[in-house]
Amino acid sequence: MRKRVKKPFRFITSIFLFAIILFSIGKFIVNLVSPEKAAEEKSVIKETLSNNLMVGKSIEIKENGNISKEENSHFKKYVIELMNREDYIDDDQNESYIYIFLKDPNSHKLDQGSFQEQDEDIFLAEVEGKDALVVKKNFENNNFVFLNELTSSLIVLVSKEKEPFKNSAVIDPGHGGVDPGTEAYDKSFVEKDINLKISKEMRQELIFNGIEVSLSRDDDTLNKLSDVVDYTKSKDPDVFVSIHINSYDESSKYNGLSAYYSKENAVSTESMALAKAIQKHIISTDGWNDRQVKEEAFYVIKHNPMPAVLVECGFASNPEDVARLNNNEVLNNLAKNISKGIIEFLSRKSNP
Ligand SMILES: [Zn+2]
Repeated sequence: MRKRVKKPFRFITSIFLFAIILFSIGKFIVNLVSPEKAAEEKSVIKETLSNNLMVGKSIEIKENGNISKEENSHFKKYVIELMNREDYIDDDQNESYIYIFLKDPNSHKLDQGSFQEQDEDIFLAEVEGKDALVVKKNFENNNFVFLNELTSSLIVLVSKEKEPFKNSAVIDPGHGGVDPGTEAYDKSFVEKDINLKISKEMRQELIFNGIEVSLSRDDDTLNKLSDVVDYTKSKDPDVFVSIHINSYDESSKYNGLSAYYSKENAVSTESMALAKAIQKHIISTDGWNDRQVKEEAFYVIKHNPMPAVLVECGFASNPEDVARLNNNEVLNNLAKNISKGIIEFLSRKSNP
């Protein structure tokens, strides 16, 4: 027999009230646990309300100014050269705008130099009583601000499509935490730090090119190799690339770059093709020795079941390689060049 609710209006009202009470209790608990988060939420809401009133001093993107612009079909990219890295305070977003807080935006010569173009999507405005560089979004999601620590610039990526990501990658900065990896012969660096620097700059380069990126770590923590594989499998990316630095204790004469694949990888032919694409680009700048593509069953590239490559970015035991690895410009080039290899491999795969 079907049981009927005799007074549907009262029934619905009670359910509704009950839901509101539950929601309020939940919200109260969340606020207790994380007061900063609640405050942040409030400020975002406040900004959302004032969206229509968002006006500011427009900025001209100029040839020799401190902001440059580049775009492709996925993203619009603004690169803001910082006078000083410490001038970047933080950034925030609401559904329509990205706010970048700088210590003194006017000191960054954002509108000096010869006129190139007027861009109405980027301007200076007062937000919450502070001067901010404001960037207008086209879509609510998939907009990013990254601090490039190698070049002391801010990279702002504004999505031009609702779904800008056509491919995905997991990047694995080798070692971390209590495991420093190898060390430069002159103790000028430990491997884990260089691996992370390169990987972080690969992230923004790949995202700009429509590749969704997950890093196995983005700070100084250690993941077990089996955890890296489990994490990668859970993301199920189109490619996996692990970043390392080589070393050879017996002699300082070995130097150069090499991309490795494993014959024991589930799609080893594709992994080899990815390694070749990366190898072609990484040796294109900075005078690196070309050690060619190599085969070896490193754990993470053997066990990850997608095209998987491990890049050995020079030798910590070789003085010339160490000098390169201590140069931020070279690290930035490495990040760009490894990314170019990944982009080339993925575009070939989607347009055979
Ligand atoms: Zn390593």
